[in-house]
Amino acid sequence: MVIGKCITFLGIWHDMQLDLQALLPRLLPHAIAWAEAVAADVAATGTALNARDLAIASAVEVQRPENIRVLMVDRLPLPPDPELQAAAVQTGLLGPTMTGLTLGYSILICHGHMSRRLLSHECRHVFQFERAGSIASFLPAYLGSIVQVGYGNCPFEQDARAHELSDA
Ligand SMILES: [Zn+2]
Repeated sequence: MVIGKCITFLGIWHDMQLDLQALLPRLLPHAIAWAEAVAADVAATGTALNARDLAIASAVEVQRPENIRVLMVDRLPLPPDPELQAAAVQTGLLGPTMTGLTLGYSILICHGHMSRRLLSHECRHVFQFERAGSIASFLPAYLGSIVQVGYGNCPFEQDARAHELSDA
């Protein structure tokens, strides 16, 4: 039984490495539902920005910085759905080296990694969500580009990196 499950899981993993682009339309609704649930949790339990951090959000053009909530976590959450989890890890989005995640006005940052640079990067993603209008309207474009050109070349990531403020 356990072995059967492992084979199934590896089968999914293998398929996804072959063709994540083809699977994306089916994964997207699950990704959006998971992102909205995580965002709601952070909105309820996270902390509003202080004056200094509000200025950082404004500097990267966030329109409603007062809406932002930040939750410090031991590690970024992974979606429970095995397919979605495999996709998230395969794309590098929620891999072990990731220290920040932004979903709408909700920002998750791993303990020990809060910095002006990371916060400004994540706030620029808030700006991108604002411009798209919602999590549901932003994620298809964002995840589509991640799958198509990879994390490093994704224009949303390039834009966020270009707006990072230095830690100095
Ligand atoms: Zn980013």
